[in-house]
Amino acid sequence: MVNEKQSADNKIVRLPEWLKTSLPKEENYFRLRALVEKSRLNTVCESASCPNIGQCWDAGTLTLMILGDSCSRACRFCDVPTGGLTPPSPDEPESVAGILSQLNLRYAVITSVDRDDLADGGADHWAKTLNAIRERCDGLKVEALIPDFRGNQKNLKTVCDARPDVLAHNIETVESLQSWARPQSKYSWSLNALETAAGSFGLITKSGLMLGLGEKKTEVLQTMKDLLSVGCNILSLGQYLRPSRKHMRVVEFISPAMFADYKTIGEAMGFDHVEAGPLVRSSFRADRQARSAGILVE
Ligand code: SF4
Repeated sequence: MVNEKQSADNKIVRLPEWLKTSLPKEENYFRLRALVEKSRLNTVCESASCPNIGQCWDAGTLTLMILGDSCSRACRFCDVPTGGLTPPSPDEPESVAGILSQLNLRYAVITSVDRDDLADGGADHWAKTLNAIRERCDGLKVEALIPDFRGNQKNLKTVCDARPDVLAHNIETVESLQSWARPQSKYSWSLNALETAAGSFGLITKSGLMLGLGEKKTEVLQTMKDLLSVGCNILSLGQYLRPSRKHMRVVEFISPAMFADYKTIGEAMGFDHVEAGPLVRSSFRADRQARSAGILVE
């Protein structure tokens, strides 16, 4: 879809061949677009300018984003707008369940923006959404890709009590780059969220990193170890792509061979499944990731 991006000094750089994507063209894409527009829901596919939108929507899958279309944080890699926050729509849980009930999926990922402005960080809205999906979508497995709730265990418990089939939280990058990439987040909050979900609630957990921000291989391996130490089951690794000149730059394009290497290493280290590749995003082929990890059985 896009074959050029801005580099650090704002020169146009050509993307490697392996990062080129195709324009959406299937009937499913237009059906999903019409459904999303009619329901007035947000998708992270659109809000985060995901390069896979053609492939995913053509295949009839999408990732709905709850709690609004703006975020209370300003991570340097993310294309979701900051500020302009409005109260959560009370109709949203039912609308999410309604749209998912029409998609004939076996596995769906729901995510949200960060809502540090709300007393509960949006945890109650999360629980209501998961409960509404359970009631309306029989047999659908749901992955909740949640924020860190600023380390607040009570808010995290509210979401875990709603028992998503997979509790996902992306640590995003290695420890040394956290304060630059996500100034309002903490590496420890991310690890604690996963540890609580896995250890105290027995949930299957998943996390993801973007590569190409300048991290070293040893740091990626250390992050994998840290994630495994808190019981993380599934890992996704993908290439960071700069949404605009305002965002942090791409330091390196990681080769497909290196991603394959990380997958082999990660699974040998103990992850149930590692999805790794230049265009991998946490929700990309999430059903396949869940199937490999034994969560979704044919
Ligand atoms: S990878 Fe995830 S966010 Fe991107 S288009 Fe697919 S479902 Fe949407």
